[in-house]
Amino acid sequence: MTGPDEEEEPSFPVVCPECDTETSVALSDLEAAIDRHNDQLHDGEEVAQIDPAVADHVLDLAAEDMGLYDE
Ligand SMILES: [Zn+2]
Repeated sequence: MTGPDEEEEPSFPVVCPECDTETSVALSDLEAAIDRHNDQLHDGEEVAQIDPAVADHVLDLAAEDMGLYDE
């Protein structure tokens, strides 16, 4: 195993209980993909979301990505 590769973009499961779908979406497209799905299929309601099991992890990564942890 190698360490985390900063160049490689992780992807995360987005689940929609109403559509009964699970889609793997790259971190940078995560918000847009969720917005798009909810907009087009659920009248803007927040139905689809990041898999709750990994949501905390995603927020950590997103914060890192935005440089919040940079010195
Ligand atoms: Zn849906």
